Amino acid sequence: MSDGNGTRAGSTRPTGAADRHYDAIVVGAGFAGLYALHRLRADGLRVRVLEAADSVGGTWLFNRYPGARCDIESIEYSYSFSPELQQEWNWSEVLPGQPEIEAYLNFVADRLDLRRDIQFDTRVVEMSFDEADSTWTVRTEAGERFTAPFVVAATGILSAPLDPGIPGLDTFGGTVLFSSRYPREGFDLAGRRVAVIGTGSTGVQIIPVVAEQAEHLYVLQRSAAYTLPSPARPYEPGELDELKANYDDIRAAQLVAHVGAARTSAFSVFMNMGGFPPLKTATREEQLRAIEENGVRGALYWSDVLSDPEAGELATALYGEAVALIVRDPRTAAGLTPAYPFGCKRPIIDVGYYETFNRDNVTLVDLRQGAIEEITPTGIRTGQGHHEVDVILFATGFDALTGALTRIDVRGRDGVVLGDVWRDEGPVAYLGLGVAGFPNLFLIQGPGSPSAASNYLATMEYQIRWIADCVAHLRGGGHQTIETLPEAQSEWIDGVQALVAGSVLLHPKCDSWYNGANVPGKKRMYTTYVAGVPEFHKQCDQVVASGYSGFKIS
Ligand code: NAP
Repeated sequence: MSDGNGTRAGSTRPTGAADRHYDAIVVGAGFAGLYALHRLRADGLRVRVLEAADSVGGTWLFNRYPGARCDIESIEYSYSFSPELQQEWNWSEVLPGQPEIEAYLNFVADRLDLRRDIQFDTRVVEMSFDEADSTWTVRTEAGERFTAPFVVAATGILSAPLDPGIPGLDTFGGTVLFSSRYPREGFDLAGRRVAVIGTGSTGVQIIPVVAEQAEHLYVLQRSAAYTLPSPARPYEPGELDELKANYDDIRAAQLVAHVGAARTSAFSVFMNMGGFPPLKTATREEQLRAIEENGVRGALYWSDVLSDPEAGELATALYGEAVALIVRDPRTAAGLTPAYPFGCKRPIIDVGYYETFNRDNVTLVDLRQGAIEEITPTGIRTGQGHHEVDVILFATGFDALTGALTRIDVRGRDGVVLGDVWRDEGPVAYLGLGVAGFPNLFLIQGPGSPSAASNYLATMEYQIRWIADCVAHLRGGGHQTIETLPEAQSEWIDGVQALVAGSVLLHPKCDSWYNGANVPGKKRMYTTYVAGVPEFHKQCDQVVASGYSGFKIS
């Protein structure tokens, strides 16, 4: 059982070589790894989960920064496979905070008795496929060796933090913090001068909270965000009970929702903006009224903003005017106005973000006016001067989708390295599940899946069921391997890219984790499936119905 602090009580280590062969190895004990363990174990497999951290939680364990909160409603951002879990767990908020999600995952691990098959403090560094006996060998940092015919890489899509690569960081005399590995015990920012670097979803959540604690906050912003007010709130008394009573309907609606979430989410905040006329035909009075009555939202909800680049430019300018209605200092307001089109990055929602810049203890350092040059022993030097700080807090993002696996030496058939494949071909996979040349290695929400464009949990659960059924099919039929066919992979990825051809998602001014442009040297490619979660599941169902078309089973 958990000790209540989410530490690893209950996990065991295998004692001898004989103990180290399993039917399946799952890498990672976040949302996906826990469900993969539960499901495969229920199917009678001997499963071992290897987890680098000392507890369950994955991304929701590491990203425990101030203000961390989910942007999808709790009752949809939670496991749907168990009516018991749904009824026994009580969410206190519509959009749950990190501590509540971490507690939920600990509850699930205990309730399903998962810890006994999870080995914590175990970082996987190498995985290689032996063609002679169709077995994966998984090696850990401590030199342990595990073998299994199947590996499920439940390694997360946003779990490999980016090294900000700023010269001089090692000379800094103050404290360096990373949002993606924030201290479990927290950090007292009172009386300190703090720099936050990064204004993506993470930075936008951190900044208002840190501003309330720090003596002074410098926000070092390379790209301004489009962010709309969050609908975060506690559930009203009785509200959750009513929802729980209708859980079947809620899940049914979720299953047919384009983004895998039918209720409140960052997606819904941005998507429920239809019904308005084109911005290009709106009069100046109508435009101004829109932002006066609706704030920043009023700049974006016009019908042509995403489809017509000229309307997009008008919207950006109007957005800047809307920000200036909130942020008193005109220079700061101008600095907070994005210089790229709306819609090409992940939607962000916030609690009091723009209002924070009216505080006397907050300074925006717009890096477009002079970039970071170096970190010094006492602060950060930019093209605009030197900022003395005691703490630097990085919220600089992730090597998304592929980073967790390229940091492991994954070798498939003929010793081919997965990192090399993705470096040369870009992030490719078939159905976000398998990569050609890597038999019996299953990805969760890999390239070509709805991942970034959806509620991660919806397709994650679907894929784990798909994988478990596939493994049962292989074992039942006496087959040893399933392997993606290269032509099916190319066709799938071409199709995924065709879906976004000509859209704002490919705009050259949009560098983000969506297209890999946030990682130096990574091939720029958008490989998230945008035709919707239901359609994706349908396509995957059809692959099974047609005898696993696109895969070779041997
Ligand atoms: P992100 O969206 O990639 O943002 C990283 C930020 O750091 C960007 O503002 C980036 O600027 C900046 N940056 C990176 N390197 C820098 C450098 N060397 N110097 C200065 N600035 C630098 O990462 P994230 O904010 O962690 O969010 C990633 C994803 O995680 C989100 O899109 C979302 O899917 C998920 N997330 C969700 C929630 C939620 O549920 N509410 C919360 C947090 C994260 P540029 O834009 O110029 O590159």
